[in-house]
Amino acid sequence: MTDDAKLSVVSRWNEIRARIARAARDANRDPAAVTLVAVSKTYGAEDIAPLMAAGQRVFGENRVQEAKAKWPALRAGVADLSLHLIGPLQSNKAREAVELFDVIETVDRPRIAEALAEEIGRAGKAPRLYVQVNTGAEDQKAGVLPQEADAFLARCRSLGLTIDGLMCIPPVDEQASPHFALLGMIAERNGIGTLSMGMSADFELAIQLGATHVRVGSAIFGARQNA
Ligand SMILES: *Cc1c(COP(=O)(O)O)cnc(C)c1O
Repeated sequence: MTDDAKLSVVSRWNEIRARIARAARDANRDPAAVTLVAVSKTYGAEDIAPLMAAGQRVFGENRVQEAKAKWPALRAGVADLSLHLIGPLQSNKAREAVELFDVIETVDRPRIAEALAEEIGRAGKAPRLYVQVNTGAEDQKAGVLPQEADAFLARCRSLGLTIDGLMCIPPVDEQASPHFALLGMIAERNGIGTLSMGMSADFELAIQLGATHVRVGSAIFGARQNA
């Protein structure tokens, strides 16, 4: 990558951080209460390293294999780095996911919860866990259905898992706000304080509706060739 391209990733990142802070203040919220998860899927070290050098410490990846290929080298010696899994998890990848990730945002079915409980017990290392809610009840989308969320959260607790947060990806062709509001209601009635919602196109709206984590990819790194 040229110096110009590096500069533009870092300058877009600065712009996004400023917009996050503004959106938080507009909503009477502390900007420090909103964490930017820089979604680096499909991007390589040459794009990620300049952001790390600029101070970004929280990154999101959607594939276990891709994260395994990229991150051990990138994060070596960076103690405060936090890597989030934001894509679907297969139970046969639970062991690798527990080893690689600091946060797994996509716990969404009993089989995954059971596999994670087992691997966490074995590894003696526990990533933070969020439950993904399929707020739009879309067939093709991962996540527990909204009406099944309370029971699933109880099931996770009975397995000894602590669920810190909820995550959603609203349907692309609908207004996001009812989905963000629904996620907030499910979190509130279950005593959960972390809400991962909002992406490049709608993170300000998500912050207005209580997001503690926004997952922003293309607005920082540029359009992806293949997602
Ligand atoms: C890719 C992805 C994002 C980031 O999307 P952008 O529109 O590029 O900001 C956020 N969340 C999830 C789950 C993703 O897969």
